[in-house]
Amino acid sequence: MQKFGGSSVADAESIKRVARRVLATKQQGHEVVVVISAMGDTTDELMDLALQVSPMPAPRELDMLLTSGERMSAALLAMAIGDLGATARSFTGSQAGVITTGTHGNARIIDITPGRIESALDEGDVVIVAGFQGVSQDTKDITTLGRGASDTTAVALAAALGAEFCEIYTDVDGVYTADPRIVPSARQIPEISYEEMLEMAACGAKILHLRCVEYARRETVPVHVRSSFSDKAGTWVKDLTDRQGPLMEQALISGVAHDRGEAKITITGVPDRIGEAARIFQTIAAQEVNIDMIVQNVSHVDTSRTDISFTLPKTDGREAVQALQAIQEEVGFEDLLYNDQIGKVSVIGVGMRSHPGVTARFFSALAEADVNIEMISTSEIRISVVVDAERVDAAVRAAHTAFGLDAESEAVVYAGTGR
Ligand code: ADP
Ligand code: ASP
Ligand code: MG
Repeated sequence: MQKFGGSSVADAESIKRVARRVLATKQQGHEVVVVISAMGDTTDELMDLALQVSPMPAPRELDMLLTSGERMSAALLAMAIGDLGATARSFTGSQAGVITTGTHGNARIIDITPGRIESALDEGDVVIVAGFQGVSQDTKDITTLGRGASDTTAVALAAALGAEFCEIYTDVDGVYTADPRIVPSARQIPEISYEEMLEMAACGAKILHLRCVEYARRETVPVHVRSSFSDKAGTWVKDLTDRQGPLMEQALISGVAHDRGEAKITITGVPDRIGEAARIFQTIAAQEVNIDMIVQNVSHVDTSRTDISFTLPKTDGREAVQALQAIQEEVGFEDLLYNDQIGKVSVIGVGMRSHPGVTARFFSALAEADVNIEMISTSEIRISVVVDAERVDAAVRAAHTAFGLDAESEAVVYAGTGR
């Protein structure tokens, strides 16, 4: 099972390069299934186009539009492989048996019925599947699985077909201790546990789609993240519960992740009464918005009022603000502030379980780099802070250095626009 991301198939020449790579694997005697993303920034461009036609495109039609990007690259790759003398057949997600829920734009895979893939493989074909898409079990409409979800298609198919592992080919040599576009001294990680990769992905490291890692962990599919531009060994994401060596020798922090996709809502002057917070968050939940960090201040003694801040995906910002404005009178809060110029920076590592002082070191590094912390949240293996959007890069670099992660050599970024 091999998956090639958008930057690996950005133009005709790259598609031919990928075709040669796929064929080489086939010639080693393997049955090959390839999951492919849309070329370069196609998905973003289709999205821009949709917004030019309609300010709020109908979700069903948006999915019809966006899935065409992956169909294009799948068909083109099949042609290129054909020209090299092998037979290849491309399939849409629906044809490949990717059955999903009906939520357009963020559908979940509920079943894979890979009958057509299996028969094509039996006939000796290379199978190419358009990533990031499926078909709704109920409505039979075409769905998409969320931005960056071709990774998830690949791991789901790998599990369904009983593949030994899943290769994710991208534009960097593997998973690094931080995004190499921001930290050139980031270090490549030879292997990382599902657990840590899950936190990295959840904290915005877009090298792997979050649900892909969830799927891989649940089905125990080892994932090899590597570059399609080199032959170097990449990063193995796998079960490391039997990791050798005493805990003390493990790195304290395995990586620093950042996320610019969230916004912050602050509700000021909320009456400090039982049930008000519940009412606010019920309103948000009714919009099916997932909130992330929450902070409630101690209420002012003289007013008995408090401020509540929380973060949420930028894409849900408008709906959440409108819903909250609608209950302003009822709840009786004073003001609603919306700020999308923020970023979240997280340090992640199972090593911090057994080491106190990680928080102190992280926060000192931020202070020295002149970064102001706006919000904080922690889990057993992660500490996250919200900072001003303009200070994200500085914060990531400071944390990376403070935890001794800097490498001597510079990380290579082969392609892509980082969009
Ligand atoms: P693809 O098109 O192959 O799916 P993506 O752009 O989705 O590629 O993901 C690869 C990018 O992820 C890299 O180019 C890099 O900028 C970014 N990235 C973020 N965090 C990390 C990390 N910790 N390690 C490696 N890459 C990272
Ligand atoms: N093309 C889709 C996107 O950009 C899916 C993917 O690349 O994984 O979100
Ligand atoms: Mg990706």
